Amino acid sequence: MRDDFDADLFVIGGGSGGVRAARIAAGHGARVRLAEEYRVGGTCVIRGCVPKKLMVYAGRFRDEFEDAAGFGWTLPEPRFDWATLKARRDAEVARLEGIYDTNLLRAGVTVVPQRAVIEDAHTVRLVESGERMRAKVVLIAVGARPVKEPLIPGAELAITSNGVFELETLPERILVVGGGYIAVEFAGVFASLGSRTTLLHRGDRLLRGFDDEIRDALGAAYAARMDLRLGQTVHRLDRRDGAIAATLGDGSEIVVDQVLVATGRRPNVEGLGLDKVGIETDRFGAIPTDAFSQTCVPSIYAVGDVTNRANLTPIAIREGHAFADTVFGGKSWCVDHKLIPTAVFSTPEIGVVGHNEDTARALFGEIDVYKSSFRPMKATLSGRDERVLMKVLVEPESNRVVGVHVLGHDAGEIIQAVGIAVTMGATKADFDRTIAVHPTAGEELVTMR
Ligand code: NDP
Repeated sequence: MRDDFDADLFVIGGGSGGVRAARIAAGHGARVRLAEEYRVGGTCVIRGCVPKKLMVYAGRFRDEFEDAAGFGWTLPEPRFDWATLKARRDAEVARLEGIYDTNLLRAGVTVVPQRAVIEDAHTVRLVESGERMRAKVVLIAVGARPVKEPLIPGAELAITSNGVFELETLPERILVVGGGYIAVEFAGVFASLGSRTTLLHRGDRLLRGFDDEIRDALGAAYAARMDLRLGQTVHRLDRRDGAIAATLGDGSEIVVDQVLVATGRRPNVEGLGLDKVGIETDRFGAIPTDAFSQTCVPSIYAVGDVTNRANLTPIAIREGHAFADTVFGGKSWCVDHKLIPTAVFSTPEIGVVGHNEDTARALFGEIDVYKSSFRPMKATLSGRDERVLMKVLVEPESNRVVGVHVLGHDAGEIIQAVGIAVTMGATKADFDRTIAVHPTAGEELVTMR
């Protein structure tokens, strides 16, 4: 006998977490509907990881062109065309969006292209059509959005990371505010593409939460690439002769063509109807869940950035997958948020897995620190003034590697592989008995004594 539900699962939000959950649940035989008010693919595909990484690639050609001379190449003066990059980047994003759509269709998921809000524990309302739909289970996967903090006078003149993807021209001068992933990555992109870039951060080091020595090394590299202002704030923005004048905390002024504010992201919970079912958000606006992504309402689950557990695409995907297997696949598992390899696509790049030196000491007391700072081989001929920094942190009693930090070329690629070893519980002795791949930068990780 059929129940009176329109669906077994109604997913609100077609980003990384929602799409994965919908597809896996449908694969388990569930009747799934997914509402997306904008474009399927969410932050990562449409206005985050993917288009950002394409821009990072674009910027890095500058170094390649410069470095080539040391290897015997003579190149004509390279020119960069923003319109070409934008058009090709946007086409790639549209292609991926199409693939997401097709995959949902193939999985048997019904996509509802409008905003959905919660009415009660089993009912969602489609805002445009006014239709109500009942589902056994509702999954909230609505993500987060960038916020401008603090809201200074003239804040409306600034863009957020969303606006970067709409810029029709490369700004000649740009001020980037913030010291987190997004500020650091975009400041690097704009500086490489040729904008006169100022990166301004209230703290005395970029990337709070990362290992201090990595932060210092990035700070030094960035200071050489752009105008880096630490321990500084912006008090107001004013329109001036078609440009923007930013008044800083010390009273000085910078005049730029664009201001990018990257001071954090907040969960998209406004107007979602959480109050109707008694879900209270935490002080960051995030939805609290248990380890299985279940909220305080048994039929409502939440995954991804709206839960603020770790705002990373692979985490949202894993949470969505675990949810669908657990609720519809008869296989219960949850995501381990303790050990998350991650990368910052700055130039130079950063890759990290495990603890930084401070948190490792706080947790384990004494730790052994192995460190290598060296000039990469390529720089010997290119003449580029750059250094790679690698750190391996070891808990002495068990000999386990509890943190690996890499700053330099391909740090993200390196850390993905090292992440497997660390996740498996590798010891320093395991690193030591691993044969080096020579000549690479990564071999330093297995030759540190
Ligand atoms: P973050 O939370 O990482 O960083 C916010 C930055 O803004 C911090 O430097 C913070 O300073 C500063 N800030 C916050 N409030 C204020 C304020 N009122 N005035 C001045 N400065 C302020 O946010 P992001 O927007 O950079 O990124 C959001 C999340 O997206 C990241 O945490 C990450 O999980 C994810 N992400 C991941 C990427 C990747 O994996 N490569 C890429 C991009 C995003 P302070 O440190 O002093 O608090």
